[in-house]
Amino acid sequence: MQIKKAEFICSNTRVDKLPEGKLPEYAFIGRSNVGKSSLINAMVGKKGLAKTSQKPGKTQLINHFIINDDWFLVDLPGYGFAKTSKSNREAWEKFIRRYLTHRDNLQCIFVLIDSRHEPQKIDLEFCYWLGERGLPFMLVFTKADKQSNVKSDVNMSKFRKALAEWFEEIPKCFLTSAEVKSGCDAILETIGDINTR
Ligand code: GDP
Repeated sequence: MQIKKAEFICSNTRVDKLPEGKLPEYAFIGRSNVGKSSLINAMVGKKGLAKTSQKPGKTQLINHFIINDDWFLVDLPGYGFAKTSKSNREAWEKFIRRYLTHRDNLQCIFVLIDSRHEPQKIDLEFCYWLGERGLPFMLVFTKADKQSNVKSDVNMSKFRKALAEWFEEIPKCFLTSAEVKSGCDAILETIGDINTR
């Protein structure tokens, strides 16, 4: 899919204020610092579209972008801030869970995972939570340029293996790097395929 147009629409702190769900929607989520903003910018080819690294304690926003006047790309606030308080974490969970379970036009949730690390509990638990609710998701491993493909493959396999204990069907995986723009086209092709289904 070629990106001809990518525009910011709005930021929201409330699920009931989201734009009308008249277009297919794809959400991107992951731990803070996983490289979500960088990947979104690399995918749509616009450097400043998604802002990098929201700091803990800052307002957590659901950001909507419209791509090619055809679909919504949604940048969700990151989870797992080391320094965040319990109440902040609970607020995040309530807000995001509400969004994920109530948004009828949500086609797929792309869960971003740092390819440099072994499977982390917080990411696995989030995937289990999605799976339990039957929410469609795929895995996007980030920062592939930071180590060899062999190392990335080992970490990806371990993550898939951990999920296999819970799920019969392992979600589709992408290995990406925002730095060298790899894997971005594959995600966009997948979105294009779902849109034309
Ligand atoms: P976010 O908090 O998930 O939105 O993460 P950011 O996009 O702000 O990225 C966090 C840090 O990782 C920044 O310093 C980025 O420059 C860096 N980063 C993000 N993606 C990549 C990547 O693909 N390769 C490399 N080498 N660094 C990356």
